[in-house]
Amino acid sequence: MTDRNLALLQRARQLIPGGVNSPVRAFKAVGGTPRFVQRAQGAYFWDANGQRYIDYIGSWGPMILGHGHPAVLEAVQRAALDGFSFGAPTEREIELAEEIVKLLPSIEMLRLVSSGTEAGMSTIRLARGATGRSKIIKFEGCYHGHADALLVKAGSGLATFGHPTSAGVPPEVVQHTLVLEYNNVPQLEAAFAEHGPAIACLMIEPIAGNMNFVRASVPFMRRCRELCSQHGALLAFDEVMSGFRVALGGAQSLYAQHIPGFEPDLTVLGKVIGGGMPLAAFGGKRAVMEQLAPLGAVYQAGTLSGNPVATACGLATLKELQRPGFFEALGARTRSLVQGLSAAANAAGVPFCTDSEGGMFGFFLLDQLPQNYATVLRTDSASFNHFFHAMLDRGVYFAPALYEAGFVSAAHTEADVQATVDAARAVWAGAH
Ligand code: PLP
Repeated sequence: MTDRNLALLQRARQLIPGGVNSPVRAFKAVGGTPRFVQRAQGAYFWDANGQRYIDYIGSWGPMILGHGHPAVLEAVQRAALDGFSFGAPTEREIELAEEIVKLLPSIEMLRLVSSGTEAGMSTIRLARGATGRSKIIKFEGCYHGHADALLVKAGSGLATFGHPTSAGVPPEVVQHTLVLEYNNVPQLEAAFAEHGPAIACLMIEPIAGNMNFVRASVPFMRRCRELCSQHGALLAFDEVMSGFRVALGGAQSLYAQHIPGFEPDLTVLGKVIGGGMPLAAFGGKRAVMEQLAPLGAVYQAGTLSGNPVATACGLATLKELQRPGFFEALGARTRSLVQGLSAAANAAGVPFCTDSEGGMFGFFLLDQLPQNYATVLRTDSASFNHFFHAMLDRGVYFAPALYEAGFVSAAHTEADVQATVDAARAVWAGAH
């Protein structure tokens, strides 16, 4: 049988660099042929060979209801009939803003954009404009989109103004980006002691899904909040992945359970709020948000921002998440998956540890949960790649890189979870 995935890859490579429109899709880390998706429904997608997969990436997070949810489809179809894009305001943008503000009380005002990258980039500009300061703090292993100032890795040793992670980013562009180690309180304190008055904002993934799944510890987050407040810097939560995914109130609602009155100053959203359409947002305190054009001097704009079809998709998705018991059921299903995988690994004597929250999970072929990027990278990539491909062969699609999180949707059933765990057990038992 001809491999249609391979044929499509060869065709795509003629015109699209690497054959893909976002690098992780190319399977570079794990090797092999990326699957070209033909269609998707519920918890599954089918590739160009007609092979079905249980989908644990869900478009890297947005598809929290699964693919083709009827209420979302209907909302999108109805919106599309009324027009695709106007470049003028619509009522639905207000409705979506009202919904987000209702669910995330730290956000008093927000702006809609089209991608998480745009939202993160605009957040940095806004924080710099609002504070009149230049420096920003980010953490090794966190990803905030591909804006130049945020494509930075730590230099030799951490707590440095880092090096660009991409060619094409001049060192001067990242000279104000301070890169610190995640969960390292002494280093954070030292950075504020040295640079405090110059720091515009600290941006953090509170549950870092770009190093698989690493939580910021409560003491670390408490210090982030205290130090930002003490030094007049803005605390920006990148909840592009965790927002409406780990809990209805996002990761910020989880920290608020441990730290009384806890709130970030700014929040970056994406993925789930668009339900699979290009939509993202950033928002926060009114006084800061009012610095944006046309009210204030911080410029930001977008031809497709607040797109009417995307806002319909996002609104319908957010409505479904508010059904009673939604997150309890999603969290239980996700726990069932990771506990099942954990039991299978233990039975086979494979090093394994895992964590999850709501519909987001991570697992590591390690004995202990990592606390930062350096420890994530201790995973043996050959073992991970073998596991990834063996699961793929059995119709289970996990993230094709060991530093990426996984996602369970409301469409995943206990039978899907059991099929996944059975497949893992077979892989680890060496069965073929
Ligand atoms: N922030 C986080 C935490 C992300 O995971 C991502 C994307 O994966 C982004 C920002 C960038 O979002 P986008 O890919 O929509 O530009």
